[in-house]
Amino acid sequence: MLEVRGLESFYGASQALFGVDFDVGAGEVVTMLGRNGMGKTTTLHSVIGIVAPHAGMVRFAGSDVTALPPFRTANLGIGLVPEGRQIFPNLTVRENLVATASNHQNLGDPWTLEKVFEMFPDLAARSSSMGNLLSGGEQQMLAIGRALMTNPSLLVLDEATEGLAPLIRKKIWDALAVIRDSGLSILVVDKNIKDLLRLADRHFVMEKGKVVWSGSSGQLKQAEDVQHRYLGV
Ligand code: ATP
Repeated sequence: MLEVRGLESFYGASQALFGVDFDVGAGEVVTMLGRNGMGKTTTLHSVIGIVAPHAGMVRFAGSDVTALPPFRTANLGIGLVPEGRQIFPNLTVRENLVATASNHQNLGDPWTLEKVFEMFPDLAARSSSMGNLLSGGEQQMLAIGRALMTNPSLLVLDEATEGLAPLIRKKIWDALAVIRDSGLSILVVDKNIKDLLRLADRHFVMEKGKVVWSGSSGQLKQAEDVQHRYLGV
C-alpha cells in the first residue's frame, strides 16, 4: 500500500529526516513511534506532500507519489487526520463532513454522513453545532469522520488521542478498530503504547530523523529495552 525509502527532508537549512524507510501493507495498521521532535510528523507530512522531501521515494498503491502536493495524494486515497484536528471552526459538524466528501477511487460501499454518524453518535447529536464549539474529543471524531468522507484507502493519524480524556480515547481506539476491520490501512502516530500494541500489526520507532527499530506488536511487547530507550516507557 505504502512504501517509503530513503526519505530526507529539511526545514530551511536544518535537516529533519535522514533516510527514513518504512512500509504499510494493505489492510495493515502500522505505528510511527518515538519521543518528541524525532521526526514523526515530518515523516507523515513528507509522505502526504505537505513537506516536499529533498531525497527518497514514496510509492502509494503502485504509483510514485514522491513530492506530489497534498491535494493530489488526497485524491489518490491518503486521508489525513492532522495533529491538532484542524477542523473548520466556522462550519457546522455536518458542513465539515460534506466539505471534502469524495470518492475518487470509486470504492464500493463508500463512507457517508450516515455511516460516520453511526460510528460517532456524539457527532450526530451535534450535527448543527459550529466546529469551534466542540470539545476536543468531538473535534477529533470530526477530524476522523472528515478524513473518512474522502474515502481513503490509507488513513493517516498524527497524534490520534493527544490531550483526550480516557473515556474519549477509548471511543477513538474502538472506532479505529472498526475502521481497521473494514479493511482500511492505517498509519498512526500516538504515545499510548498499550493501546497501540492492541490495535496495530507493526511498529516503526524513530530517533533523530531515522527509523531505528521495527517489529510486530509481539516483538515490541518483549523489547523492553527498546521501549525504555526510545519511547521512555
Ligand atoms: P512531536 O511529537 O513533538 O510532534 P515529531 O517526532 O513529530 O515530534 P517533528 O515535528 O517531525 O517530530 O520534528 C522533527 C524535527 O524537525 C525537530 O527537530 C523539530 O524541531 C523540527 N521541525 C519540525 N517542524 C519544523 C518547522 N516547521 N520548522 C523548523 N523545524 C521544524
